[in-house]
Parts: sequence; C-alpha cells; structure tokens
Amino acid sequence: MKENEYLTMDPRTTLAQLLADPEASSPAIICPPIGVVVSYKSLATQVERLAEQFLGAGLKAGEVVAIILPNGLEFLVVFLALTRARLVAAPINLANKAIELKSILDAARPSAVIAESGNTVAAEVTAALEVPLWPPLLESSGGVTLAHLATAARGTLETPKEDDVALLMYTSGTTGQPKGVPLTHRNVLRSVGNIASHYALTPADRSLVVMPLFHGHGLIGAALSTLASGGTLIVPPRFSASDFWPLFREHQATWYSAVPTIHQILLARADTDGAPDRGARFIRSCSAALAPAVLANLEKRFGAPVLEAYGMTETSHQLASNPLPPLPHKAGSVGFATGVEIAIIDQAGKHLPPNASGEVIVRGPSVMTGYRANPAANAAAFIDGWFRSGDVGVLDSGGYLRLTGRIKELINRGGEKISPDEIEAVLLEHPAVAEAGAFPVPDAKYGEDVGAAVVLKGAADPDSLKAFCREHLADFKTPKRIWIASALPKSATGKIRRSELAA
Ligand code: AMP
Repeated sequence: MKENEYLTMDPRTTLAQLLADPEASSPAIICPPIGVVVSYKSLATQVERLAEQFLGAGLKAGEVVAIILPNGLEFLVVFLALTRARLVAAPINLANKAIELKSILDAARPSAVIAESGNTVAAEVTAALEVPLWPPLLESSGGVTLAHLATAARGTLETPKEDDVALLMYTSGTTGQPKGVPLTHRNVLRSVGNIASHYALTPADRSLVVMPLFHGHGLIGAALSTLASGGTLIVPPRFSASDFWPLFREHQATWYSAVPTIHQILLARADTDGAPDRGARFIRSCSAALAPAVLANLEKRFGAPVLEAYGMTETSHQLASNPLPPLPHKAGSVGFATGVEIAIIDQAGKHLPPNASGEVIVRGPSVMTGYRANPAANAAAFIDGWFRSGDVGVLDSGGYLRLTGRIKELINRGGEKISPDEIEAVLLEHPAVAEAGAFPVPDAKYGEDVGAAVVLKGAADPDSLKAFCREHLADFKTPKRIWIASALPKSATGKIRRSELAA
C-alpha cells in the first residue's frame, strides 16, 4: 500500500461504530492474570449499558470524565462507554503525584473521576473537587461495574457526532503547564483506520498491549486499531519483562507495539526468557527514536519485520510509519505519512524540497484543531492550517521521513515526554536553590533521561534535591543526576541556555 492510498477506505467516523462486529462471539479482550475473556458481543452490551448509566447519573453530553486506571478491561469498557454517551474521556497518567494530578484536573474540570479504590492520590485530589469518584469493579464473568454509580436510572443514548470531542489528553507543554489536546471522534477514527489498514490488521491478529492505555500509543496505536479490525487484545495490567513471552506464546499474539526501551529490555533477556525466534507478523516501535542497530538485532532475534512509526498526541497518535514487506522499511526512518500530509519548513515557514532539513509539519483528518482553551499555544502551534510538530526532520524523494532533532525543549525519556520547565519550577521551590536548569542527558536504557544543574543560595546536596523532586514530581520525571554549579549559562535576556548546559 502506498502513501495516502487508503485515506478514505474506512467509512466509520465515530467510536460508537468502532467494534468490527458488535454481535461476534469471538474474543475482543483477554485480561491476564485473571484470565477473563470478553467477546465482542459482551463488550458491546456492557458498553451500551454503562453508557446509559452515565446518562442516568446526570452526566450531560460534552462533559469530561477523568480515567485514572491501569491497563485492563475496566479501562477499555469505561472509555468506550463514555464516548458512546457523548461524554469526553480524559485518560490521565497513573504515575502523577497529587500536585501534578491536581493541575491536570483543575484544567480538565471533570464531572466525575474513575479511579481504583486503592488510589489514594486520586481520592485525595478528587475529594477537593467535590465530584463523584467511581471505582471500577471487575466480576469474574468479565462484567465491569462502577461502585457508587447508581445502576437503576438509565438515560437515553444519542448517537455521537463525528465532531464531538471524544478524547481529551494532556501532554507536557514546553512552558511547563500540561496542554489539553481535544480529539474528536473523527480524528480518532481516521487514525484508527489508517493504522489498521497500514498494518493490514484482520480478525486473525492478536496484539499484546504493553504500552499504557492513557497514552495514544497504547490506546489508539494498539487497542482501538485492533478492536476496529476484529482482532483480539491481550491486556495485562502493566509491562512485565518476565511475563511478556509466556503471554505472547500462550495467547498466540501476532504483533506488539512498544517504545525502544521495552524492545531493548526484551532483546537483552531474549535468550534467558527462551523468546521465540519467529511467530510475530510484525513488531512496531514508536514514541522515541529506534537505533538502527537495535532494529537489526530485533529482526534477527525475533524473526519479524520491525516497523518504526512516528506518533504525536496532537495527531491522534500515528502520522507516519514504515510499511509491511514487500515495501521497504528503512532503519533510521519513521516511514511515510499514513493518511495525513507531512511537509518540512524552514525557520521562515517556507516549504522545503526533498532532502532538506527543517521542522516537520502535518495536516489531515486525524490532526486536532487546537489545544483546549489555550490561544497562546495555538498561535505558536499552527502555520497556514498545518500543525507544527516541533520535531526536525528530512523527507526523502520517496516520502520517507527521518527525524533528526527537536526544536521543542522536551525531554523524551523512553517515550515519556517531560517538560524542563516543570522540573526547574519544582527545583526553584526548594529554599536552597537560586537558579535551576533542566535538560536531557543521554541514557543507555531510556535514550534520554532528566539532568539538572542548580546554583545554590543555601545548604543542599544532589541527593536531598532529588528527594525533594520525588515528592512533587512523578518518579519518571525526577532528575537522574543533579549538578551543583557556581553559575548557569544564560542568554542576553537572562534565559538559561539549556542546550549549553546539556553540552
Ligand atoms: P507524544 O505526544 O507523547 O506521543 O510525543 C510525541 C513526540 O514523540 C514527537 O513529537 C516526537 O518528538 C517523539 N516521537 C514519536 N515517535 C518518534 C520516533 N519514532 N522517533 C523519534 N521521536 C519520536
């Protein structure tokens, strides 16, 4: 299949139409370790019932409901039921500490929060919001219910509109404040259709989902694309290296998608784990750069084509990918545009010819129309109707894209995006810190990790500063290393030069 050939092949435009066959008795979702298997028919019935209950509880179309759940059947049933009821599902990273969660919920203003009963951070933050908290319960039969949600009252479901916002995701802003990315039903369905057709997904496919469902990679890249094509999802609660191949084999998975860090972990342990040397139809890599040597080693060890893709929250995840054989997939490239247009511009905004390096811009039906209530971010994010990725790349004459750098100052730690502003803001809260600069440092496991340099005005050492960060930031954002400096490099306007710090 060639670039853009499949743009309009899938006629579905809302998540209410997502399931390939809502009457099918074939398995839609398998949940290890409890071993629950849910058919398409059971999933569709549950989703309709829960959607009616949401409306019965008084929620109105367009209201936001936060999902703070680990991977599992509960997440997917809740997500599909919310969008079926024309509500907006806002999945949120489970790793957030109370301060981070509060800042996202203050911006998202949910009408209800769905989180596990043991999640004390979610309970604490939700209590202050005075909205209901509904913990999910999973019955051994595979039924999902929500505690404290009245089940007797049922609302009348309306069909979602393709321009309704279905999904609200929060992404690290370069200014430190998370930015809300509203994605419509059509945005999501276009992306799902592009992914399903690009990898020729069929009901025979089974995907082992190891990426979090609160991010586009797990949710759209693996889960929704599989449900749209009638395949089966195997959804353990989290990635576990030692469980990966036993699950892959037991459930006869045909593919998985992951960040390079996970691929590298699987590769390093492959022989110890007795990993199979064939069996996968393909392996997908996305969200951070895959080193060509890792790609080659993965293909050799696991006997499957490794297809690197490029995704962004703002583009409903995938915007480019390498194709399946017999078309060539190229190491060091993220492949060609899948259902969107990609171009490269220079600093003045002029479109550049093939093989020239510049900022990657994208437009198409899966791209968001703007950040939520954020005119400043929107003014910077769009140029003539194209979305500016903040990534630097080169398109070759065949349309294959190579990413070569970043304009935006985010740290990409194994696919998790971290704003240096957010790290600096926390360090500056410490009474002994006068100045702080955060920047990416190379890391063998994560590609990049968080580094920081501080100028002190009181007594502190790197360990106590790290402990302070850990109190206020999700663990993955805590600097791996903190340097104490006598001064930090600054521009004429006094802005810290992070690139010089990193060097
Ligand atoms: P997110 O919104 O979390 O999906 O992050 C999107 C960003 O991840 C992109 O703008 C890129 O900077 C980065 N990214 C995604 N895929 C790749 C890839 N294959 N190689 C390098 N960076 C990537």
